[in-house]
Amino acid sequence: MIILGIESSCDDSGLALYDTHIKNLRSHVICSQNLVHKEYGGVVPELAARTHIQTIIPLLSKLLKNSNLELKKIDIIAYTRGPGLPGSLLVGSSIACSIALSINKPVIGINHLEGHLLSPFLSNNSLTFPFIALLVSGGHTQLIKVNSIGNYFLLGETLDDAAGDTFDKIAKMLDLGYPGGPEISLISEFGDPNIYKFPRPMLYTNNFNFSFSGLKTSVLNVIKNIKLDSLKKEKANIARGFLDAIIDVLTFKCIAALKNTGINKLVVVGGVGANKQLRKKLNILKKQYNYTVFYPKKEFCTDNGAMIAFAGAMRIENNYKSESNYEFNIKPQWKINKI
Ligand code: ATP
Ligand code: FE
Repeated sequence: MIILGIESSCDDSGLALYDTHIKNLRSHVICSQNLVHKEYGGVVPELAARTHIQTIIPLLSKLLKNSNLELKKIDIIAYTRGPGLPGSLLVGSSIACSIALSINKPVIGINHLEGHLLSPFLSNNSLTFPFIALLVSGGHTQLIKVNSIGNYFLLGETLDDAAGDTFDKIAKMLDLGYPGGPEISLISEFGDPNIYKFPRPMLYTNNFNFSFSGLKTSVLNVIKNIKLDSLKKEKANIARGFLDAIIDVLTFKCIAALKNTGINKLVVVGGVGANKQLRKKLNILKKQYNYTVFYPKKEFCTDNGAMIAFAGAMRIENNYKSESNYEFNIKPQWKINKI
C-alpha cells in the first residue's frame, strides 16, 4: 500500500509517500515558509494559508517525479486534520480530498501531534510501545504516555507558552532571526553559563506541567536593562542562560515522568527536539537514570509530510477507518487525548 501524506497545519508544506511493503518512505518533500514570515518574527496565518495554495500542487508533482510514480498508484491519502491554523488546515484538507476524489481513493484525517509522536519510528527499528514522549514544538509542550497507536495518556503540559514559542519570542527580543530555536542554540555556544541565572519554573511542583511565561518575562527584564546593540557577547550570555534554564526544566520533568511510570524509553519529538544541547543533556543523563532515548531524524523534528504518511499507514494497519465521502472537517483545536 502506498500512502500519500500531506502536512499543512502551520507554515511548512510537507508531502511524502510511505510504502507499507518496503516499510519505508519512497520520497518526501518540504517547502518551508520561513522566508515568508521572517520579517514579521512569527507566522502570519493568512500568508501561511495562501502560500500553501501556491506550494502543495508543485510539491506533489516533484514528489511523484522523485519516486517515479503515477498519481493513480497511490492507495490512500493521509492529511493533517488538526490541530493547527484553520486556513492552513483547510487548504491541505481540501487539496487532499480533491486529489482523492479524482483518483477514487479514500482519505484519512490525521492528528498532527500523533504524527510528531510516531515520527521516531521512521528511523528507529528498535523502538517499541509503551514509551514516554516529550512533545516540544512551536505550539505544544506535553509529556505523554504512549501506550499504543491511538492510546495516548496526557501526563502534563504547559500552562501557558510552548517551549518552541518561547525560543521564538526570546530570539525576537534579542533581534535574532526566525525561527528562534536554531538561532538561540547557535549563539548560546559563545555564551558564558555563569552570567545570567534565570528561573527554572515549576521544577519542583508535584506534577508534569510546565510554565514558560515567567521565564520569558525574566529574560525580557534583563534585556530591557542592558544595551544590546553592539554587544554580541551579551546576547550570547543571555541566550546561554535561557537555554540552560529551559533545558534543565525539560530534562528534569522527563526523568520524573520516566520514574513515575516505571517506563525506561523516552522519545523526544517536535521542533525543539532537534536542539543539540537538549539532546546532549538527555544523552549524558541516560546512564545515571537508566533510560534509552529516541529521536526522529533532525529533518523530521519540525513539520513534515513523512510523519503524516506514516501515521496514516499505522492507523490503517491497526484497522482504523478511512473515509470516502470527502467531507473534510478540520479540527484546529484537536487534542492528543481526544483522537
Ligand atoms: P505544533 O506542532 O505544536 O503545532 P509547530 O508545528 O509550529 O507546532 P514544529 O514545527 O514542530 O512546531 O517546531 C517548530 C518550533 O521548533 C519553532 O518554535 C522553532 O523555534 C523550534 N526549533 C526548531 N529547531 C530548534 C532547535 N534547534 N532548538 C530549539 N528549538 C528549535
Ligand atoms: Fe508541528
